Amino acid sequence: MMNRRGFSRMLLGALGAGALTGAPFRSLEGETRGPPPRGLGRTLPALDPQEPAGFQTAGDLRIDGARLNRWLEEFNRFGRRGEGGVDRLAFSDAAREARAYLRHLMNELGLEVRVDPAGNLLGRREGEDAGLPPLLVGSHIDSVPAGGDYDGALGVLAALEAVATLEERGGRTRHPLEVVSFVNEEDGKTGSRAMAGELRSEDLARMTASGYTVAEGIRRYGGNPERLGNARRRPGSVAGYLELHVEQGAVLDRTKTRIGVVEGIVGIRRWTATVLGAANHAGTTPMDQRKDALLAGARLVEAVNRAATSREGSQVATVGRIEAFPGAANVIPGEVRMSVEVRALSMEEIREVFQEIQGAAEEIEAELDTPISLEEFYLSRAAPSDPRFRQWMEAAAEELGLSHRRMPSGAGHDAQSVAQFAPMGMIFIPSVDGVSHAPEEYSRPGDIEAGGNVLLRTLLKADRELTAATPGTGTPLPS
Ligand SMILES: [Zn+2]
Repeated sequence: MMNRRGFSRMLLGALGAGALTGAPFRSLEGETRGPPPRGLGRTLPALDPQEPAGFQTAGDLRIDGARLNRWLEEFNRFGRRGEGGVDRLAFSDAAREARAYLRHLMNELGLEVRVDPAGNLLGRREGEDAGLPPLLVGSHIDSVPAGGDYDGALGVLAALEAVATLEERGGRTRHPLEVVSFVNEEDGKTGSRAMAGELRSEDLARMTASGYTVAEGIRRYGGNPERLGNARRRPGSVAGYLELHVEQGAVLDRTKTRIGVVEGIVGIRRWTATVLGAANHAGTTPMDQRKDALLAGARLVEAVNRAATSREGSQVATVGRIEAFPGAANVIPGEVRMSVEVRALSMEEIREVFQEIQGAAEEIEAELDTPISLEEFYLSRAAPSDPRFRQWMEAAAEELGLSHRRMPSGAGHDAQSVAQFAPMGMIFIPSVDGVSHAPEEYSRPGDIEAGGNVLLRTLLKADRELTAATPGTGTPLPS
């Protein structure tokens, strides 16, 4: 009798010449029928009978970059817009069809496919040690309206490509591998937050851009919003999480760096600053008798910028919205309201920047006699990546001769939620011109292949070195 690995090898071999499988594929969510996906499409290297079952050394192990790029191209038929880019909103028909395609690929790879109660799609490949918790690897497949081809989809398909490479080489990891496609990343990180136990009932009732509430959407994906607790992963139940993603900024492209080693996902705090002056006639009130709230506000804008730029580090601070009242050309502004946002890799850094802003506000208030209050209205905690993952990624990039740099992620990702219960690592590849969340989003095929190779090697290093006793890094930082 042929074991499953033997069967999968045979399957991969049969598909080796780039043949179409032609097999119909069915969505686990129901009736969905998409175009038949192509097979794995690589001529297999001869298997070395001496090769050990487990991967002790990565050696010359490489993913099939052409296959990964082709998968990505095929995948982006789901939700393809005539003008370019994709409309693949979470819970939409296009997203369901895309999930059916993923499920088909997972089946082809011999993965055990399931949908958790939050609707996350998971494909599991058993490891050699049944007692070990799984290594989770993936991203999301939903897009923003008129989104790009790479944000999210790359991470899920690269995870499958890593599994396909292991399958072809007959290599088995110690830990089980779980490829995950998270639900609704773009509009609230629904799936990953459910895993972290952070999804609330008001999140479920919220209407999404696809015209379904989150709860309805989860049902459309084959999940069960009444049993969300069962989607939760406790610290220790996942050995580690790895995600490949496009940078969505221009740092790598501008510095011609191939690989970004993500230090963490930045924390965010936002305040409303209210400046009180005295509204008065702009023609009859002499300059030395004014309490101009907008003049004070302008100084505060500068102070916010200075607070971020006057220190070392990657922290950023922004005033993005400002309103002056009463808002007439011939009236001295009596009140100004503006947003103040600070982002940094740790909540402590954010606190320090904010303290400087507060100090500046007090000085402006005293000088111009315009009381300034700062009231917080939003907080999102920083999620540092695991230092070991950073080292493994750097070692992998070195082995592959790829330039790399450490950098924060200024955008939110599923990895942020996963960091609450497991050690997390994240790899960035360049976005050309830093364009993202737009049809013009583009990453070069060579960079996609490089990212896939770093993903595979990092995964194998994590598999070798993480132990069952590895604690999560998810302890929330003090604010
Ligand atoms: Zn994304």
